[in-house]
Amino acid sequence: MLSLTEVATPAPGASRPAEPTTTKTFDAFGRHIHYLRVSLTDRCNLRCVYCMPEQVVFRPTEELLTDHELFTVLEVMDALGFDKYRLTGGEPTVRPGLVEIVRRIASLPNAREVAMTTNGLKLARLARPLKDAGLNRVNISIDSLDPVKFKRITRWGDVRDVLAGIEAAERVGLTPIKLNAVVIRGFNEDDVVPLARLTLEREWQFRFIEVMPFADVAEFQQASIVPTHEMMARIEAELGLLIEENGGRLDGEAKVYRLPGARGTVGFISPVTAPFCASCNRVRLTADGTLRLCLLKDGELDLRTPLRRGANKDDLLDLIRAAIWRKPWGHDLAHGVIPMNRIMSEIGG
Ligand code: SAM
Ligand code: SF4
Repeated sequence: MLSLTEVATPAPGASRPAEPTTTKTFDAFGRHIHYLRVSLTDRCNLRCVYCMPEQVVFRPTEELLTDHELFTVLEVMDALGFDKYRLTGGEPTVRPGLVEIVRRIASLPNAREVAMTTNGLKLARLARPLKDAGLNRVNISIDSLDPVKFKRITRWGDVRDVLAGIEAAERVGLTPIKLNAVVIRGFNEDDVVPLARLTLEREWQFRFIEVMPFADVAEFQQASIVPTHEMMARIEAELGLLIEENGGRLDGEAKVYRLPGARGTVGFISPVTAPFCASCNRVRLTADGTLRLCLLKDGELDLRTPLRRGANKDDLLDLIRAAIWRKPWGHDLAHGVIPMNRIMSEIGG
């Protein structure tokens, strides 16, 4: 039987070590959980059709973790051996104080990688300060290169801003650059070809994502899913055979291929048709302070209430490692079980 952590955590009252710890945290299935996705806000400067309703109502600010509360939780995750962080949202670049938040996460003793998923709109200005603060790399969402389609998907975005953000990110070295497109029937299923074509000339990884169902948006999402095999067939018909990379092993959650002669790669994230739960190594912190154990299951641990009632870091550490132990094996989309308590923008992907 595995213990919750391989190495005992410091005794109550002991000060946290300033150097990296060798602590590792496992769930009951023996998965080493060391990757935290941190949603910094549920707010966004776009309204993508597959993510949120147009009339979305955001949470009141007082429900969101303050910077101080956020760092209390992050220091506990660090003590549990978490070493990889991804900032997300909503749109992480609309969170006030983002650059300072990155600087503090990058200086956590165990932090090995700090990445961010963003719609890229504000990156042209932010790429340099974020890089200087310690951000390692970015994933940028771009669902179409066609300005009209891009606007239809995002409800008002200008794709030129995203392209400027991608160029800025590359220029300052937020690399390797990964680009994400959620593929939606009737909106951008034929854009997979021009998007994949970008990898012929650029050293980017372009990742195509199957849309996942959440709460109020689930009906639209389920009606508009384009399965990975269809995306692959469309790309191969125009651009040639996709050649498997990494011996077929997943890169994070993506299965990666290369087009003949391409400088970059093409990835497919298939949570609906080919779940990757067995290799899951992550949990998520929502902007309102819950630890979400599985993207596609409603089970969460409320951390904001104990934080505001005066829990100390040792109390939080006990709560979090017990919750991680109970992390579910995987989602149940195949049996019709859909997450109902949050939409994607409240979790962060
Ligand atoms: N605003 C940032 C962005 O769009 O990149 C970060 C947050 S967004 C929720 C994170 C990722 O989730 C994006 O790549 C987005 O395209 C993707 N996404 C949003 N809703 C989705 C859904 N229902 N199914 C699959 N991916 C989704
Ligand atoms: Fe905003 Fe990202 Fe959701 Fe689009 S996918 S609405 S950019 S949070």
